[in-house]
Order: sequence, then structure tokens, then C-alpha cells
Amino acid sequence: METGKPHSTTDNHRQLDDLRATVDSIGSFIFMKDAHGRYTYVNERVCDLFDLPEEAILGRDDSTFFSLDHSPDLLENDQQVLLQGQTIETQERNVIAATGEERWFWTVKRPLFRTDGSIRGMSGVCTDITEKVQLERALREKQDLLETVLDHAPACIYLKDTERRYIYLNHRTATLYGREPDAIVGARDEDLLPRETADNCRELDQRVLATREPQRGEETFRTDDGVERVYETHKVPLLSGEGGFTGFIGFSQDMTETRQLRQRLERMAHEDQLTGLPNRRRTEQVLEEEINRVHRSSQPLSLLALDLDHFKWVNDQHGHEVGDQVLIQVGVTLGARLRSTDTLGRWGGEEFFVILPATDLTGAQQVAETLRQTTETCIHAGGTPVTVSIGVTQYDQSQSLRAFIQHADGLLYHAKHSGRNQVALISSQAAFR
Ligand code: GH3
Ligand code: MG
Ligand code: MG
Repeated sequence: METGKPHSTTDNHRQLDDLRATVDSIGSFIFMKDAHGRYTYVNERVCDLFDLPEEAILGRDDSTFFSLDHSPDLLENDQQVLLQGQTIETQERNVIAATGEERWFWTVKRPLFRTDGSIRGMSGVCTDITEKVQLERALREKQDLLETVLDHAPACIYLKDTERRYIYLNHRTATLYGREPDAIVGARDEDLLPRETADNCRELDQRVLATREPQRGEETFRTDDGVERVYETHKVPLLSGEGGFTGFIGFSQDMTETRQLRQRLERMAHEDQLTGLPNRRRTEQVLEEEINRVHRSSQPLSLLALDLDHFKWVNDQHGHEVGDQVLIQVGVTLGARLRSTDTLGRWGGEEFFVILPATDLTGAQQVAETLRQTTETCIHAGGTPVTVSIGVTQYDQSQSLRAFIQHADGLLYHAKHSGRNQVALISSQAAFR
């Protein structure tokens, strides 16, 4: 307890020593300067920083110890304290002259006054925050990098919490909503999107929330102008180290063009360009599938091989363009006379195949005759009726695909040689008309 008894000189010295020792043990740089900025006191940490003894520091100003050209704030701060009597609390970046090392300090500089109010110097307490600043800088650089990657990634990337509210979204995602990302954070899809689209996105959200397992799926997004875009989406749970579940991250890649291209390529691979009918390759595939079905179900299967008569003459007489139109017309007109389970394919040139599942020879013969008559009465080239010859055959389970096709072709050949514009179903017999 304070006794109020005056201290002896020895006591004062001891106290001063204790104070010095205390100040030296503080982790900060503590100093005093006179009105000209010359050091009048430094603690041990300052000596360590400059790697000099106290005597080499006292009486000198910062031009000896810091590279002032590279320490932009130092003199300015000192002048504010020494000339204007202000107290400064700020961040200072100083470069040590001897080593060229850059150090960051949190600096508190206060003026020291004489009794008449004039400034006699300043005291300073600086804490080294270099590591913190470097960490912050590294973190900021990483954040900038991450943001650049996220905003330029060719995908929508977003974070949602367990309530399905947006925590983060990159610019590409925000563009879908026609808003800035900040205007979307905190909202759910149903607050922003038409109901149908929001429902579509919710399904995968709920699956990842329920299972806490990564989910993959397709999402359809209809924009305001009615354009439908298809996204391939991955949603991955965000699990913290302690087993906590904070939401999920979503990656949605726009597959609209890719899918359209794939569909177009698939169509091109299967479709005859002139007539839009199944091409030879696709027709053969269907025939193979139907043959397999016969082996499973024992249902009959018949095939018509159909070739336009004197088509070369049609081209020669009316031109290739007219010939093309006839081929298109054959596709449309004959197709309209068939069942949905039948397949009319362009086998090549002016030859077509008709695959008739669940149809025996008698039924196929009737279909062939209908098609022959339809052609004769409906299809014209420059006003001239077009006719067709047809070979009809029923699949025999012991036959190969090749033999089946050759049989139909052989009968077609037979119909041609028997005078054209007719249906042939038994090669040994005269063509049926
Ligand atoms: P046949 O009664 O014996 O079948 O006589 P044809 O003239 O029809 O038979 P040929 O095989 O001699 O001629 C077929 C013709 O079909 C020749 C060819 O120029 C024509 N052709 C094949 N593909 C096309 C096409 O895509 N467009 C047009 N306009 N003509 C085609
Ligand atoms: Mg022909
Ligand atoms: Mg031909």
C-alpha cells in the first residue's frame, strides 16, 4: 500500500532500472525523439532492429536507419507530431537502410510538451505487424485469384446454405438472374425464378441436402425470353471438419449447344438428308432390332423392297430437281399410309425399304399393293405418274439378315423384269399384280 513517504534517490534509480527492464521486455519498439527527430531514448528492441548499440542510435535521426525514399509515411507522420502536435495512430511501412528489409508497423506517436506548451519531442510505440500484413496480402492475392477463376470459369458456380439460400454466386450465375451477385445473396431460387424453373433446381438441391452426398443431374432453365437452356449440374455437400453441414456448392455447365450439336450429329448419322427418312444405316439397324424381336416373340416380320420405275428417265425428262421432289414426295405420301410401328427407310438412290413388324406375307402383300397404287395415283413427275416395283418377303427364322435383304431385293428384281409397276412375293412365281 502507498505510504506517501518520499522515495530516496537509490529508490528512484532502482525504479528507473525496473522501468527500463520492463520497457525492454515489451515486444514493441519504444523510443523518444527530440524536436528535430533525433533519438533521445530507444528500448532494446529498437537496438535489435537496427542491429546497433544504443550509443550509435541516440542523437541520430531516421535518415541513418531507414531508407527514407522507400519509407513514405515515416517523416510525414513525425512532422505531424512534431510540428502540429498531433497524436498519430497508423500503419507505417518502413525499409531498414542497412538490410533493405521492408517492415510494417502499427505506430502510435505522441508529442511531448514543455511546460510552456511548446513541443520538445515525441514518444513512439511501434509494433511489428509485417507477418500479419504479409499474410493479409497473400490471402487477398489468393482471394483475387479465386475470384478471377470463379468469374471466368465457363460454368455457374454457387454456394447455398442448408435453407437453400445463396451464400455466394459467380457472375455467370448472376447473369442468369439478370442481377448483380450481391442482390441475390440471401435469396432462394423461388424468390428469383419462374415456378417451373425453380422447381426444377430444387429437386437436386433437396437430394444433396437429404443425402449429404454429391449429386449429379440435369437442370432446365427457362430464361425470360422463353429460351430453354439445359445444364449439367454437380452439387457437392459442404462438410466442415467437425462433421457440421453448412450447405453445398453447385457447378452448372451449360450443355444447350453441345446437346443440340450432339442431337444434330445423331440425326445426321441416322437420317437421309434429302427425304428426312431413316438412311440405309438406320434402316439396317431397325431391321436387325426387329429380327431380334422375332426370335424373342415369334411374331411375323415382313420386308418390302421398293424401287421407282424408270427413274433415270424422270431425271432426264424433267430434271434432277424434279427427281428430288419426287423422292421427297414418296417419303411423305407412302409414310402416311403406314402404321407408326412400320419403318420406311431410304435404302439408296430411288430404292426404299419398308419394315413391317407383326405382319405376315399376306398382310405385307396388301400393304405393298396399297403403296404401289398410292404411288401410281398420287405421285407425279412433271405431270407424269410415277410407278414403283416392290419385292415382298416374310422373315424366316433360319435366315440371316443378309439373306433376308437379298431375298427382298431378288423379288424386286423379279417385279422389274416382269414389267414393273407391280408387287412380287414369290420369286419362282410370276409377279403379283
Ligand atoms: P428401273 O425401273 O430399272 O429402276 O430404272 P431406273 O431408271 O429407275 O434405274 P436406274 O438404276 O438405271 O436409275 C436410277 C436413277 O435414279 C439414276 C439416278 O440418277 C437416279 N437417282 C438416284 N438418286 C437420286 C437422287 O437423290 N435424286 C435424283 N433426282 N435422282 C436420283
Ligand atoms: Mg429405279
Ligand atoms: Mg434403283
